[in-house]
Parts: sequence; C-alpha cells; structure tokens
Amino acid sequence: MSDCIFCKIVQGELPADKVAETDDLLAFRDIRPQAPVHVLIIPKKHIPSAHAVTEEDAPLIGRLHRLAQQVAEQTGVAATGYRLVTNVGTHGQQTVHHLHYHLLGGRQLTWPPG
Ligand code: 5GP
Repeated sequence: MSDCIFCKIVQGELPADKVAETDDLLAFRDIRPQAPVHVLIIPKKHIPSAHAVTEEDAPLIGRLHRLAQQVAEQTGVAATGYRLVTNVGTHGQQTVHHLHYHLLGGRQLTWPPG
C-alpha cells in the first residue's frame, strides 16, 4: 500500500534498523522502544491487522512465529523471557495498520497492560 509506512520500510523507501529478514518477513527495531529490546516483526505482504489474517496466511504466520523465536535468541532475551503482542484496531491502540508483532524484552514486564 502506497501510504503505509511499514510497506515503505519493506520497499526500502524509509530507513529501518533491521534485525532479520527473509523472503516474506522483516524484523526491525521500534523507533520508540518501550523496553531494552523492542523489535517489530512484520510480513512483507500488506495485511492490515491480525483480524485480517486468512487461512491462506497460516504458513506465513507460522514462519513469522519462527522468526520471532530467532529474533528472541539473537537479541538475548529468549533465556529470560519476552512478550510477543499485536494490537488490533482503536481499542487495541493499533497505530500502524500493517500487521506487526511487538517483541519486547530485556526487563521485567508487567501485566495487565493498560
Ligand atoms: P502499534 O501502535 O500499531 O501497535 O505499533 C506501531 C509501532 O510502530 C509503534 O511502537 C511505533 O513506535 C512504531 N513505529 C511507527 N513508525 C515507525 C517507523 O517509521 N519506524 C519504526 N522503526 N517504528 C515505527
């Protein structure tokens, strides 16, 4: 999508601090980190949110979870634990409408979220 900032990052039109990349996935550091490790993991394909994922996307989402594991290992948070979350819509406080998982770690996180 032409006005999607994450599509622009995928296309190389906007810079990003990339952590990992595959043919159909990208992981890059959040511009406003909320934890010592805060990486966004996205499909290169524009999917508006987790609520728009289809059965056809199942293998892609499986690979995304495998990449999240790899990023957790690579950034050193796998041993102590981390959070993998995706916000959906207005009440979910989704601000970028391109499916992304936040991988947060490197400190003790709290629950419930606000
Ligand atoms: P959401 O609020 O939709 O769950 O998450 C969007 C995330 O994208 C936010 O944590 C925000 O800081 C991050 N973000 C927004 N614009 C950019 C950008 O241009 N580059 C990077 N690396 N992160 C961004």
